[in-house]
Amino acid sequence: MFLDDTIAAVSTPIGKSGIGIVRLSGRSALSVADKIFVTANGSCPSRFPSHTIHYGWVKDIDEVLLTVMRAPKTYTREDIVEINCHSGIVVLRKILELVLKQGARLAAPGEFTKRAYINGRIDLVQAEAVLDIINSQTQDALKAALGQLQGRLSQKVAALRKNLLDISTQLELSIDFSDRDVQPPAKEELLKMMDRVSGDLKELLAGADRGAVLRQGISCVICGKPNVGKSSLLNALLKKDRAIVTPLPGTTRDAVCETIDLLGIPLKLIDTAGIIQGRDIAEKEAVKRSRKVLKEANVVLLVLDGSQEISSEDLAIAEEVGHRPAFVVLNKQDLRPKITNNEAKRILPGRKLVRVSALRGTGLDRLEKELTDFIWKGKARFSGEILVTNIRHREALKKAQQSIDCAVEAKERGLGEEIVALEVKQAQRSLAEIIGKMSSEDILGQIFSQFCIGK
Ligand code: GDP
Repeated sequence: MFLDDTIAAVSTPIGKSGIGIVRLSGRSALSVADKIFVTANGSCPSRFPSHTIHYGWVKDIDEVLLTVMRAPKTYTREDIVEINCHSGIVVLRKILELVLKQGARLAAPGEFTKRAYINGRIDLVQAEAVLDIINSQTQDALKAALGQLQGRLSQKVAALRKNLLDISTQLELSIDFSDRDVQPPAKEELLKMMDRVSGDLKELLAGADRGAVLRQGISCVICGKPNVGKSSLLNALLKKDRAIVTPLPGTTRDAVCETIDLLGIPLKLIDTAGIIQGRDIAEKEAVKRSRKVLKEANVVLLVLDGSQEISSEDLAIAEEVGHRPAFVVLNKQDLRPKITNNEAKRILPGRKLVRVSALRGTGLDRLEKELTDFIWKGKARFSGEILVTNIRHREALKKAQQSIDCAVEAKERGLGEEIVALEVKQAQRSLAEIIGKMSSEDILGQIFSQFCIGK
């Protein structure tokens, strides 16, 4: 990695807003700033004390505030200059062009964070946490990401690596001194140590599904024939919980999609267009898309109009839902009911029935409770425990677990210490991958490319 150059980027979204930031990091950040920043008393950034902010101008472009942060107490551990200007597309672009002309290089996505990692300020798990913080959609997802940034998962992984190192040392002692008169470590003791590591890994992995829910969210498709109240239900849920994302632009034929914060879970609600039959080409295409969305849904709400008898169209839609995880939502409970519990339950056997009135907002609490119970599998809401949220971490933990289980089996079967030691080493390597101690440039590239430019 070439760290001798100085990188620069716009760190705020391009568009109109109060403030925009151009950020520089590297050895010549201050000398580049000297060339473009003008103050009333003629002082220049390379003379400013660290962590101070100064009023001035970027000549002929904008009135700005410039912050100087000297290495090593900075985000990247390099000299950093941040220029706060007015956030207009021309201003930001012109200041960026100017710093590039003075010798800085345009940063790649995530390159500031990558430097923080390469310079040892944070490990890979913490770098990924930065991305998760930016992307988090609910308070709980943010809490999980912050825990990761604070190093809670890294510390746990470090502790496990230390335990594995102790086991390796014991094993190597008995290999190296097998022909001398050294007492090999007791088999039971070693097995106990390995079991403990395996148990801890299992515990971390057990929370990984919950972690994935917080990080990626859950998709919930609302389906049913026209006029049963699908959009009304979506709107009622949106009103009740804060909507996270504005509606996706779409025509009336497309699915409408909004995400809500359902007790910490980012729940993506998708109101499908028809899924049964389309008359013209466009409708047929919409039906195709709706079916695809339905197929990929984590959970389905099949909405029925409780004030009308079940029709063949309801049955056909239920057939499309098939064996997917689903709830039957009997809407329009404020009107005279025409569907009995048994009839509603027969439509999707084995699935729960929830009665609501989207119009009046009744029954929504129960529906939400059923949904959260289903998503958390009856367990309590996330309360700040160490959570594995990232698939890369989960895969590495799984590999470590497999290796340690092989080591236990080898030990139990009385195979040579070399074989046991090999498996333990492999488990150590898998854990090292998580925090980035043994990561290839490919993996780093893949991780940092997910960042935005300027972070
Ligand atoms: P969709 O075609 O399934 O999306 O259905 P809409 O949400 O557009 O609702 C169709 C009609 O049913 C509208 O006139 C709604 O006001 C009405 N509606 C929806 N939910 C309820 C409800 O709970 N009670 C009553 N009485 N009417 C409802």
